[in-house]
Amino acid sequence: MRKKLRIEGVAAPEQARGEYVYIPFEVPPGARRIEVNYHYENQVVGAQEFNPGNNIDIGVFDVRGHDFLHGGFRGWSGGARSAFYISPDAATPGYLRGPLQPGEWTIMFGLSKIEEPSRYRVNIEMDIDPSADTAAEPGEVPVPGGNVLREAVAGGSNGNGGGRWYRGDLHAHSEHSDGANTVEEIVGYVHRAGLDYFALTDHNTISHWDELARLQQRGGPTLLIAGEEITMYTGHANVWGLDGWIDFRGTDAERVQRLIEHANQRGSMFSINHPDSPIPWKHNSVHGYQAVEVWNAPWRYYNEPALIRWQYQLNSGKRMVAVGGSDSHCVPPAPMTQPNGPGEPCTWVWVEGPLTQKAVLDAVAAGRVFISEAPNGPMLDLRADADGDGVFELLPGDVFQPERGQKVRFHVKYRGPDGKHLRFFNRRGLERDIIAESEDFDDEFEMRCDGDEYLRVECRGFRGRPDRGEVVHALTNPIYWGRW
Ligand SMILES: [Zn+2]
Ligand SMILES: [Zn+2]
Repeated sequence: MRKKLRIEGVAAPEQARGEYVYIPFEVPPGARRIEVNYHYENQVVGAQEFNPGNNIDIGVFDVRGHDFLHGGFRGWSGGARSAFYISPDAATPGYLRGPLQPGEWTIMFGLSKIEEPSRYRVNIEMDIDPSADTAAEPGEVPVPGGNVLREAVAGGSNGNGGGRWYRGDLHAHSEHSDGANTVEEIVGYVHRAGLDYFALTDHNTISHWDELARLQQRGGPTLLIAGEEITMYTGHANVWGLDGWIDFRGTDAERVQRLIEHANQRGSMFSINHPDSPIPWKHNSVHGYQAVEVWNAPWRYYNEPALIRWQYQLNSGKRMVAVGGSDSHCVPPAPMTQPNGPGEPCTWVWVEGPLTQKAVLDAVAAGRVFISEAPNGPMLDLRADADGDGVFELLPGDVFQPERGQKVRFHVKYRGPDGKHLRFFNRRGLERDIIAESEDFDDEFEMRCDGDEYLRVECRGFRGRPDRGEVVHALTNPIYWGRW
């Protein structure tokens, strides 16, 4: 038996940008499949940032309700699709398969852009099995991927306890949100690109974790990490390694603060993405997050302001981890609508022992991170020898306590094209500027370490036309001393 519902309404420009609208509908007992499609007037053509028209995003909650942080999330496709379905064992990418519990479900609209009144229509069609036992317990909605990703150990990892740098990417998208590729195509690409770890962070959903878990179990050189890009109308943030979906309805600073605390309580960092562009971060009053994506997509796009913002945070005494993210939305065979693939930029993490999801995220949280433009480099490794024993035991992210006026030796190892600038920064600004004279360049120097200070390194040089200015080829997180 097929049951059809039609819901009509009007979205008005007076409704604030970023408002969510909730449209309830009834799922009868015995539902075997729910199909939804929706249409509205004056839909924008192309990117909504640059073109006139309306945009209405869509998602759905089940009988568990749609309370902030605790709703029964069943999927989100933003503005990427006009139709989706959910059944017990399959669903459209972006949506979660599982029991179709009878009762009140809710379509959620996200009014991201309404320039003029827009009449909308939602069509819902359900397959009903009238013989189904209406008293049967509907069961739990499974978390995609189960525990596979949290328990996986990368095949090529160094299990003997010695530390090394691992290369990876913390930010990318698939067809489970607005990306062009299947998860399998992207994972094939990151295997070939030589990434040691890779986090897929589709917008506002976790439905891609099932495929990640399947591909992790099939094997390969790359550790796959469960991620979600919290995609608000007032800024974006990445969370990684969670035990399930996390809400994205941070409509004001108070809610964003609660989201950050909720992510932290559940064992994830909260990392602000591309804080200055293309979707600027509007919540400068919130705190408790650990990382900022200082480098998103190719350097020249919009990263210089993010670097300045990060330097400002450091200079005001705030310890903050800089990470990179390709924000890749396409790999071959899809048309390459952006010039960079996963791993560009590449976020390198220092891990001792087996390479697991927890080990990667602990390294990120500790700031044991440097970023370079690609998986093949350049490599930029900053160390310090605070106890004077000739071993450079301190890495980026580490904090040490020098004696008053103590001279500490630093070492930088650079592997990349020669002729590039290595610039060392602290709270006062540029501290030291040298040229890497060879492709295997090592430099050692001594610095008086007083107060609450840090030291970090950037590698800069020209790419293409010199009149377009320098780009960053690589940058490290700081080594800190004093109180942080
Ligand atoms: Zn984003
Ligand atoms: Zn993104």
